[in-house]
Amino acid sequence: MDSITPVDACDFTVFGGTGDLALRKLLPALYLRDRDGQLPDGFRVIGVSRAEVDDDGYRALVAGALREHVVAEDLDAAVVERLLGRLHHVRLDVADVAAWHQLHDRLKDGAASDDVIRVFYLAVAPGLFGTICEHLDEAGLVTERSRVVLEKPMGTDLATAQQVNAAVGRVFEESSIFRIDHYLGKESVQNLLVTRFANTFLEPLWNSRWVDHVQITVSESIGVGDRGSYYDRSGALRDMVQNHLLQLLCLVAMEPPTYVDRETVRDEKLKVLQALRPMTPELVDRDTVAGQYAAGLCEGRPAASYADEVGHASSTETFVAMRTEVQNWRWAGVPFYLRTGKRMPERVSEIVVVFKEPPHAMFPHSEGPTEPNRLHIRVQPDEGMRLHMTAKEPGPGGIRLRPVSLDLSYAAAFGGRSPDAYERLLMDVVRGNTTLFMRRDEVEAAWTWVAPILERWSQPSHRPRKYPAGTHGPVAAVTLLERDGRSWQETE
Ligand code: NAD
Repeated sequence: MDSITPVDACDFTVFGGTGDLALRKLLPALYLRDRDGQLPDGFRVIGVSRAEVDDDGYRALVAGALREHVVAEDLDAAVVERLLGRLHHVRLDVADVAAWHQLHDRLKDGAASDDVIRVFYLAVAPGLFGTICEHLDEAGLVTERSRVVLEKPMGTDLATAQQVNAAVGRVFEESSIFRIDHYLGKESVQNLLVTRFANTFLEPLWNSRWVDHVQITVSESIGVGDRGSYYDRSGALRDMVQNHLLQLLCLVAMEPPTYVDRETVRDEKLKVLQALRPMTPELVDRDTVAGQYAAGLCEGRPAASYADEVGHASSTETFVAMRTEVQNWRWAGVPFYLRTGKRMPERVSEIVVVFKEPPHAMFPHSEGPTEPNRLHIRVQPDEGMRLHMTAKEPGPGGIRLRPVSLDLSYAAAFGGRSPDAYERLLMDVVRGNTTLFMRRDEVEAAWTWVAPILERWSQPSHRPRKYPAGTHGPVAAVTLLERDGRSWQETE
């Protein structure tokens, strides 16, 4: 749980303040931080959008969103009122230079102090990032204590990511730029760092000598829904692999940083991205699988095909499976298998580290299987860890082997509510702690690595393979591992 030491007073400006992200994630996260006493007097939230609402209209909109997106037992009427009292709305089309004085006036008027922290959260289309930063600068709103938060997608390829980074970088120092990957704010993901680096037992085993391979799966049961027009231009590789899955891979594979609260974490993650085996056209054909869901049965209900959902035939992938390697001393030769998709059997994000078989079979006359040890790190839902091992079944007579597991369930061990990733990340922004955010060179290294895959998949001859909704993806994803004598670890 995040420390509940109050942050400093802040003017937290959300561009796109009436949008889905703001109302569903950001405002509920701020409410919960307020409830736990983390927002001091003088902390204001200024929603900026094109919506025709005044302050009261905005407060009513946010009150409705809190009722919808915060569980009833966490809603406290007095805190809701307190948060609503912090809210303001500025109606502004960010492209309209003449209108910017309204935001300027609002920020100057009633601020807690002259050097109050300013957060500019850009919950709008990335095409507006450059314009907003330019106008913030021209309007004289960027102070030494200002920070900007960028939401995904961070470009659609290396060139567009560089453009966005350059436009934002003209106005903000890198240390004031917070590129959000909300996976990094998840409790279980942070716990992965703690498990690796605040304990000693794993570190000697965490390498190619003892690890057979690593699997990272991020599956969703939902289809593309009403995000079709965005998604059809993006696809699973850009939407999930380039950011979330590669970030998870970095945290599994990185070397111990000197400290976990300094720039060194990002340095170590960058080294992993730079050590990923470069994809050649031959490797793309051999080691990657793109899929697209056809009609099927998902969670017991009929589900339409992707093409039907977006309303036309499409070559956008809704599923990716791939094999890669981290080419360094620690990981040489260890496959990392990544998999993500929509309309899979369930929503689950999990990292599985599969260890090697014992070097010598010591129980030749035993009954029962010996399975390799596996560490399952469950990112969502039911955050926790499970170590699968082999034990002796109790009883007289011969030795019978049985797989058993050591479980760490977050809910059981710590009780209480697991905070949403945004709660942690928004407070880190105010505190100016960039550890859990992506640095410019990381984002660009990730795009550099996926570029040959994007290129190969853009060929007209390339078509994603169909898989029925509600299944684990195309058969080729299974053969990708079977070829290596391995199989995907499905949820138990
Ligand atoms: P949305 O369409 O629901 O809301 C867009 C918001 O931006 C509205 O408040 C709108 O008034 C405002 N806006 C648009 N153009 C503007 C302009 N010219 N001037 C001022 N305000 C303007 O979008 P959303 O779902 O909230 O997503 C916003 C951004 O965040 C998108 O780039 C999206 O890809 C990204 N994102 C969204 C989510 C999510 O869960 N919704 C998750 C991750 C990233």
